[in-house]
Amino acid sequence: MVLGAGLAGLTAAYNLMRHGYDVIVLEAQNRPGGRVQTAREGFVRGGHAELGAIRIFETHEHTLKYVNEFGLQLVPYDTGQRAYFIQGKRFLHPPQGTAWPLDGFGPGEQPDPVTRIFEILGSGIAKLGNVFDPGWPGSVPSAVELDQHTLASYGRSLGASNTLLEMFYAQEGRCGEWNAAAVLAMEAVSFGSTPQSIKGGNDKLPYAFAAALGKRIKYNSEVIRISQDERSVRIGYRDRSGRHEIRADRCVCALPFAPLRRVSTDFTGTKADAIAKLRYFPAARCYFQTRSRFWEKDPLGPLGGVNLVGTDTMAGRIWNTSSQQADPRFGMIQSYMFDTDALAYAGYGRRRVGRMRTMVENLLPGSSGQLIGCAEKVWQEDPWAGGGWGWTRPGELTWMRPAMMQPAGRVHFAGEHTSLWIAWMNGAIESGERVTQEILAA
Ligand SMILES: Cc1cc2nc3c(=O)[nH]c(=O)nc-3n(C[C@H](O)[C@H](O)[C@H](O)COP(=O)(O)OP(=O)(O)OC[C@H]3O[C@@H](n4cnc5c(N)ncnc54)[C@H](O)[C@@H]3O)c2cc1C
Repeated sequence: MVLGAGLAGLTAAYNLMRHGYDVIVLEAQNRPGGRVQTAREGFVRGGHAELGAIRIFETHEHTLKYVNEFGLQLVPYDTGQRAYFIQGKRFLHPPQGTAWPLDGFGPGEQPDPVTRIFEILGSGIAKLGNVFDPGWPGSVPSAVELDQHTLASYGRSLGASNTLLEMFYAQEGRCGEWNAAAVLAMEAVSFGSTPQSIKGGNDKLPYAFAAALGKRIKYNSEVIRISQDERSVRIGYRDRSGRHEIRADRCVCALPFAPLRRVSTDFTGTKADAIAKLRYFPAARCYFQTRSRFWEKDPLGPLGGVNLVGTDTMAGRIWNTSSQQADPRFGMIQSYMFDTDALAYAGYGRRRVGRMRTMVENLLPGSSGQLIGCAEKVWQEDPWAGGGWGWTRPGELTWMRPAMMQPAGRVHFAGEHTSLWIAWMNGAIESGERVTQEILAA
């Protein structure tokens, strides 16, 4: 049995099937992919928008393996000049070594605050040790020390000013409250130089897995109970026809812990604690399709590339995914929001798209009359995800990481939250491969 048809569950089911296992996948929604979700409605000329997973770097070996295996094509994002809107000032990314036009920097941060950010991140990464050690972070004292911090508190301990942090968030998203050890390990293993995404939409990857698995996936089937004895696992689920129970030799639980909390289980000890305590990070995207790529004529100079405008406003970052669209004339931009920005956006309720439209017009001059289509998603509102990705508090990673990964009897745990590549498809897929090996070895 595999619970959840996100990429973690799909990878496990696909590999177990190929090893001759008789696999059934239970999925609560009517589609595969979970947090890989591509919106196509509401756009003209074949426009599409990634509501969840978007970028694939050349370092994402697990994702790329299946992209190649299923014969999917990748499209690189274009590059270009980025603007900022911070402290109410709008300016282009200053050349390296040139002072940023912002107030409140601390000693030594100007004239090259970007280098100062890299120094801080680099000093944290140096404390991580070997993140691939099975006992990590518990096996590395300096990583355990880092686990006591959020990224922001670690930066502040090295003297980072609020301005430096806000400038960093304008570039990378409001990630200051992430566990420093978790986010720096993720940064160290995940980032590359060439972001790409799948031609026509990233959901082609889960749909390719789903096609290979065929009727083994039962959609609209919500898992409600997991129990086990020495011989088997029993899974209770409900679908449109009622409640059912299936017995299996082994089970892969690839449900995010937020919806898993609603499932009746008899897990104990740190496993039960981790399921109860893992938080999910607020994240939201609000897309607008545009009549033209008007930012190429921005008053500051031509803008372009995926990172169009970095801001300290609720809009977070304005990203540009026009290079992924079939029609070269129309544009596609999005406001990508983390943490308090995503919460504030959600707080506007039905007025939120209108509010964002007004904000975008302020951040990108010339957008008035340009916005012709919209799609948006607030991940903390999705009952099957509970948020963008697993989010550990300071002091939690050292005990929670092994607790999240370890099997409990005949139940094996997969999902991005069990991986080093938190918040990436690569992590979900790697975890699906890991549990396959666990089951083969059992
Ligand atoms: C905003 C955002 C941006 C991202 N950006 C990127 C990116 O740029 N690049 C990248 O590689 N990754 C990115 N990711 C991360 C990536 O999407 C995830 O890491 C990955 O898709 C998670 O896969 P998963 O299988 O672990 O979980 P999920 O995809 O969440 O799958 C879990 C499945 O379980 C199902 N389920 C839940 N409860 C039940 C139940 N009770 N019964 C049955 N089924 C249930 C859900 O419906 C879902 O299908 C992003 C994610 C988000 C949200």
